Amino acid sequence: MITHLHIHPISAFKDNYIWVIHNQSHAVVVDPGEAEVVIAFLEQHGLTLCAILITHHHADHVGGNEALTQRYKVPVYGPAAEIIPCMSQAVREGNTIELKELALTLQVFEIPGHTAGHIAYYTEGMVFCGDTLFGCGCGRLFEGTAAQMYTSLSRLGRLPPTTRVYCAHEYTLSNIAFALHVEPDNADLLARAATDRDHIAYQQPTLPSSIALELATNPFLRCHLPHFHRYAQQMSDQAVDSDVDVFSILRTLKNKFA
Ligand SMILES: [Zn+2]
Repeated sequence: MITHLHIHPISAFKDNYIWVIHNQSHAVVVDPGEAEVVIAFLEQHGLTLCAILITHHHADHVGGNEALTQRYKVPVYGPAAEIIPCMSQAVREGNTIELKELALTLQVFEIPGHTAGHIAYYTEGMVFCGDTLFGCGCGRLFEGTAAQMYTSLSRLGRLPPTTRVYCAHEYTLSNIAFALHVEPDNADLLARAATDRDHIAYQQPTLPSSIALELATNPFLRCHLPHFHRYAQQMSDQAVDSDVDVFSILRTLKNKFA
């Protein structure tokens, strides 16, 4: 478990989080969609930026790369399968990233579905998963198939249960509203709803969550359960033959729900 690092969310745009991983002197940022808020945070805390980590190519995740790399001479890590502004280190499945200033080693997972080349950064105790796994939800299927996304989510779901989940958006409450529609009697979900409503009421992030909490409450990680198969069959006139079918139906319903 990493205990020498602090992880802090910087709010950007309407509901993005730019995660900063830092010690007393150095920092890396994940998905800096805008530069100004990152620069302000670094200056306020006296931190030296040493790398930028990118999960996927969407503008709200990469929009700050150009201004940040002009100001700081730092490497930009990103998915080899995508075009990322200012990317200097294209990484893929199985690569590891050594961030010496933070004494931190990250593993790269390819988790396609939201985009075709989407990656996550993992080290024991934490995963930065961009727009793939959200608090009680998952990203939309812009470039990948339901089967790809389901495989990617299931892989994240097999990480150690205590792994903290650092998502790139604050979507948790609207995701919980949908999840409650699917599972109104899930006690863990009801408890999460109360806790996360309080967080938002006090203007606190609902994140990070944990893999254990996601497995207990996130409908997109629960598609294998018999009552999810029954729910999907009730909601669809297509045959529901597999967990991926359940996932696909839930994802479509969620698109209409919110
Ligand atoms: Zn995205």
